[in-house]
Amino acid sequence: MKLSIIIPCYNEEEVLPLTLDRLKILSQEWIAREDCIEVEFVIVDDGSQDRTAELLTQYSKADKSIKVIRFSRNFGHQAALLAGYEFAKGDVIVSLDADLQDPPELIGSMLDSIKEGNDIVYAARKSREIDSLFKRKTADVFYWIMKKFGADIVPNHADYRMVTRRVLNAFLKFPENNLFIRATFPIVGFPSCVVYHDRPERLAGKTKYPFRKMLEFAIDGLTSFSVVPLRICSVVGLLVSLLALLMLSWSLIVKIFGGAIPGWTSTVAPLYLLGGVQLLFLGIIGEYIGKIYTEVKNRPRYIIQEMINLGEKNVIR
Ligand code: UDP
Ligand code: MG
Repeated sequence: MKLSIIIPCYNEEEVLPLTLDRLKILSQEWIAREDCIEVEFVIVDDGSQDRTAELLTQYSKADKSIKVIRFSRNFGHQAALLAGYEFAKGDVIVSLDADLQDPPELIGSMLDSIKEGNDIVYAARKSREIDSLFKRKTADVFYWIMKKFGADIVPNHADYRMVTRRVLNAFLKFPENNLFIRATFPIVGFPSCVVYHDRPERLAGKTKYPFRKMLEFAIDGLTSFSVVPLRICSVVGLLVSLLALLMLSWSLIVKIFGGAIPGWTSTVAPLYLLGGVQLLFLGIIGEYIGKIYTEVKNRPRYIIQEMINLGEKNVIR
């Protein structure tokens, strides 16, 4: 059995040598234990501006099992992961972050879970105590909303997962441009399980997900995977229209029977309320139109500048 390890990297010069060393040592253990017979590393350099590319070129010259895809610019974490998935040749494929926040020691037990008959092993973090209260709470809200909106996503699982070849082949048939990878695998199906791990601090370098990017990622995730926000628009729109109808009949009755001077509040308050609701819903609809726009353009999801030690891409669709 051949194991592919996919690592997306963006400006990871500080931590990458440590990560690769650790994985190299571990992979010898897995081979010795006969968990697998061969290990390949598919490392995607997502347009790093630091010495990541240089380091990778060096490593891949010395070691043919280190395969490198270099993007022409920064295309983002999801695109990098996708490229890894498209080029990985293994029978079992695992993806993890470059910063050792996804403990590689877990791969051994993930392999065991695969042997027990699972096709997808999701690694999820046990607790979020190293995160700030803010990140913790926003993450909770995000997973809660995702679940409510019908996207079946494993709580506290990011992109540390192991899949078998048949799962990956099914996944690669998903043609969408707006890919939210962690919510796509549950749709693929097949037997799966979750393993839990502690999540240490980033070993070196700094996070590439500041608040703005996190928010973008969350909105993208939601609108890529759920039409519920659109439905909420219709339902609330309907309710507000019914209310307006009531208001209308009420004002007509008052006009006919009472001739009262219309109050300022009852004119102005609904004005602002309706204005706000309309803008919000236009925004939500806009999000989806934006998605349709990017899908229709069907631009390449990433552009490769250089490949080292790599064969052809697995073309499925
Ligand atoms: N990453 C990437 N492209 C980007 C941003 C991040 O390939 O535009 C990689 C990064 O190198 C790391 C992984 O995605 O391997 C996760 O990023 P990070 O550790 O910064 O996220 P966090 O763990 O803080 O959520
Ligand atoms: Mg990280």
